[in-house]
Amino acid sequence: MVISLVEVEDVVDRLVRGDLKFHEIEELVGGDANVATKIRRLALEKITNKDLSSLVSTLDFNELCGRNIECPVGSVEIPIGIVKIKVKGDYADDLYYFALATTEGALVASVNRGCSAINVGGGARAKVYRDQMTRAPVFACGNVENAFKLKTWVEEHFDEIKKVCESTTRHGKLVKISPYLVGDTVFLRFIFTTGDALGMNLVTIATEAAVNFIVENLPFPRCVSLSGNLCADKKPAAINFIEGRGKSVIAEAAIPREIVEKKLKTTPEAICEVNLKKNFIGSALGYSPGINAHFANMVAAAFIAYGQDVAQTVESSLGITTTSTTPEGDLYGSVTLPCLEVGTIGGGTRLPRQKNLLELLSCEGGGDPPGTNALKFAEILSAVVLGGELSLLAALAAGHLAKAHIKLGRSNNQQLLK
Ligand code: NAP
Repeated sequence: MVISLVEVEDVVDRLVRGDLKFHEIEELVGGDANVATKIRRLALEKITNKDLSSLVSTLDFNELCGRNIECPVGSVEIPIGIVKIKVKGDYADDLYYFALATTEGALVASVNRGCSAINVGGGARAKVYRDQMTRAPVFACGNVENAFKLKTWVEEHFDEIKKVCESTTRHGKLVKISPYLVGDTVFLRFIFTTGDALGMNLVTIATEAAVNFIVENLPFPRCVSLSGNLCADKKPAAINFIEGRGKSVIAEAAIPREIVEKKLKTTPEAICEVNLKKNFIGSALGYSPGINAHFANMVAAAFIAYGQDVAQTVESSLGITTTSTTPEGDLYGSVTLPCLEVGTIGGGTRLPRQKNLLELLSCEGGGDPPGTNALKFAEILSAVVLGGELSLLAALAAGHLAKAHIKLGRSNNQQLLK
């Protein structure tokens, strides 16, 4: 729909006066989300007396509204840098150009240095050892006898519940329902495989169908909430760490001693000492569930670049880094990420730039067979996490951390280096 300048100004004025709400504009402009976005931004400029022209976007909001965003006013840009990583996984087996979206100076250079050491050593071996997405509704049952009856009924009717769940999705498969009882309260942790999708919408829709089936067939349980926080989505949680959520993945690499000395400017022994004292003892003292140096840096930067749900960095960056010296005196390093929540279809992966970057890894959209693209992406990302982890441990061991940040993060503070 084409609307005139006078009409645009009229809608802007009505917004400024408060006669119209920001979410009501689409209706007035024939559902054109791009026009509505522009009007919202112009009104916001007038209301706040601020220039917001930097928010003008190349995105087609007609493609995104109803799926990825409401009330848009524009978009922000975040720079992406590229690192090179060689991966030998069950699904990824190549040298990949991997994008990191960040504004932290020194991060891309540091991750690339670690990846480069891994590449010279022959690449990283990566393996997804568990793959599942969860939703855990919570039920009030009135007393412990009923709580126990609900648990037993669900166990006895698993096949019927599975059928109900899978009637809502082609790719979601119900694997298990784990019951947890607390007094008269029951949590049912529904565990699915979700193909190439992260699967949060998919499992939520499927679990709701199961909840309806349960409360229709039993007189006592009342579903208090479709999510009972035992899922556990977007919260740090021991259950995710131990039981897994998303992809549980390990990447490992052996790096020859001379490469550690030449590229990482330190020794395997010094890296092992930092890993023990910092990642294990320091994290134990602080009761931190992150037994690693900075998984969140690589995970968050990858999640932004590849259209993942950035809030899930919380649990996706949980995990453990191990290091040791091999009998030959080389460095062995591994990262274990028990709850890396990723997908290559759905959510933000459909945005043009994010999709383009997935194409660069040849794992955009649905895999053949379904699920293989998301597994491949998890393998590559875990190898990049290993690169970032070993590089930071090496920088700390060599005493280079602050210097690198002054050089690459504060180009106006170079005198501090002298
Ligand atoms: P989605 O975009 O809602 O669903 C994925 C879609 O892709 C499904 O319709 C699925 O169809 C289809 N599909 C086609 N080929 C597929 C393949 N090879 N593998 C898997 N699915 C395939 O995405 P989602 O992953 O379920 O949910 C992700 C979104 O949920 C993100 O935007 C995230 O931010 C958001 N989120 C939601 C919640 C919540 O509580 N609902 C919580 C956290 C995050 P079928 O279902 O028919 O297989």
